[in-house]
Order: sequence, then C-alpha cells, then structure tokens
Amino acid sequence: ATSAVDGMEASRSSSLLPAALLMLLGLLLSRRACSSPPPDSVACARGTSDCTLANVYGSFPDRTACRAADAAFPRTEAELVVAVAAAAAAKRKVKAAPRHSHSFPKLACPGGRDGTIISTARLNRTVSIDAAQGLMTVEGGMVLRDLIRDAAAAGLALPHSPYWYGVSIGGLLATGAQGSSLWGKGSAVHEYVVGMRIVAPAPASQGFAVVRELGADHPDLDAAKVSLGVLGVVSQVRSDRVAESPMCMHACTVKSLTS
Ligand SMILES: Cc1cc2nc3c(=O)[nH]c(=O)nc-3n(C[C@H](O)[C@H](O)[C@H](O)COP(=O)(O)OP(=O)(O)OC[C@H]3O[C@@H](n4cnc5c(N)ncnc54)[C@H](O)[C@@H]3O)c2cc1C
Repeated sequence: ATSAVDGMEASRSSSLLPAALLMLLGLLLSRRACSSPPPDSVACARGTSDCTLANVYGSFPDRTACRAADAAFPRTEAELVVAVAAAAAAKRKVKAAPRHSHSFPKLACPGGRDGTIISTARLNRTVSIDAAQGLMTVEGGMVLRDLIRDAAAAGLALPHSPYWYGVSIGGLLATGAQGSSLWGKGSAVHEYVVGMRIVAPAPASQGFAVVRELGADHPDLDAAKVSLGVLGVVSQVRSDRVAESPMCMHACTVKSLTS
C-alpha cells in the first residue's frame, strides 16, 4: 500500500512539473513584455537628404522601399509653406507623411527617388478648443491619441474613431477612415469636420505655395477632406460635435452629444 501511495505521489509531481515550468516561463516573459510606439516613418541618411519612408508594417505591397531625394520637418504652418514652395519651385513630387504611416499601400510615398516627403510629425498641436460648442481645431499631424487626450482634458470626446490611436488627423481624413457604428452623421471622422487649412502648391507669381482656408460652407471642403493627400498638405482641421462624454480609445459610440 505504501509503495502504491508513493507511486501516486511521484506521478502527481511529474504531472505538475510541466505546469510549473509553464507558469515560470509565463512569469519570466510577462516581466519582459512591454510595448512601444513604432519608430518615426521618415528617416534620412544625410541630414534631410537621401530619405526613406516606412509604414508601420515595415513593408509595402510591392516589397520595395519608398525613397525620396529629401524631406522637410516643418514645425509651424509658416515652415510648411516654405517647404511646399521649395518643392513646387524645384518641380518635385511631394507627399505628406505623418509620424507613423499606417496605410498599407504606398499612399504617402512621393514616388521615384526625386520626390520630397513633408513629415507632419511636428505639426501636432491643438490650436483651439471651444468646449461649449464641442469644437476643436488641431494641426494635421496630430495623432488620434493626442487629440483624444486633449479633448478629454476639456471634458470632450470623439464620437467615432478609427481603430488605431497612432493615425494622424491629416491621414485619417485623406483615406476617409471611419469607426464602426452608424450614428449621428455616420462613423467617418470627416463627417464632423467643419473647416480646414491646406497648404497647396501655387504658381511662381504667388510664391509657389498658398494657404487655402476652407470654411463649413466652402464648396471645396468635401473634396479636400478625403483627398488622398493629393491636393496639398493639411495644416489645420476644425471638427465639430466633439461629444461631452468619457473618452474611448477604439471605434466607439458615445450617447450624449453637444450640439
Ligand atoms: C483607402 C483606405 C481606407 C482606410 N479606411 C480605414 C477605416 O475606415 N478605418 C480605419 O480604422 N482605418 C482605415 N484605413 C487604415 C488606416 O487607419 C488609415 O490608412 C489611416 O487613417 C491613415 O492615417 P496615417 O496618419 O497613418 O496616414 P498615412 O497612411 O501615412 O497616409 C495616408 C494618406 O494621407 C496623406 N496625408 C497624411 N497626412 C496628411 C496631411 N497632413 N495632409 C495631406 N495629406 C496627408 C498621405 O500623403 C497619404 O496619401 C484605411 C486605409 C486606406 C488606405
């Protein structure tokens, strides 16, 4: 009888061993697990020349790199105008690229090796908030996470949002990105945009670049909202109906809206 009990004990210990090892491994891994945002999408080999654009997945569908002759990193709308004008004067193809380029296709790539990338990573401020009206104006390179944070600080939230908080306002408008519910005007963020400032190329007589201000009643506003980035660089976006409600990080619907 004693040897039978010893045998059962031994077999129980041996069956517990793999589970204990698995738990130990899990503990070790969980201590090391951490998350960090992807690196900036634009990197240059020499100063602001010989640059590459990478999306957050690390590869494009055609499996080739996106290269550009140079890149600009404006911090203000005035610097953005200078960057667009310089590229237009040099007759270079230009595309805007946000801090973390999230589109799988090469939408933000100017094409060829002679183009110019304008990074909007540093155009990332909130310009103004009118909490009573549920209105926010932000720069085009601001990422969704920062917009949600600044809105929350003013007691506001976006009624709908695309699924990843690293996308930029300029980029998500350009692609018509949306959340997942039908409510209010629908789940596409651009439905809530009531004004934009775009820096567009212009003839030499206008200094090669102009700032176009499109208000709620401007006939070009709808076209400019979802433009795949081909009409100019979105400098500022004014959005209304930012709801008064707790903040939500994923595609979501909130119930109480300010009008
Ligand atoms: C056609 C399409 C539809 C998508 N729809 C959804 C969706 O409904 N929901 C969702 O969650 N995700 C969607 N995605 C995936 C992803 O969320 C979007 O691609 C994302 O919103 C893009 O944001 P981004 O800041 O990473 O811009 P990028 O992917 O880097 O750029 C997208 C386009 O926007 C232009 N652009 C970027 N910033 C500016 C600016 N300031 N001014 C002018 N142009 C600019 C770029 O040049 C490029 O043409 C979609 C992707 C694509 C390609």
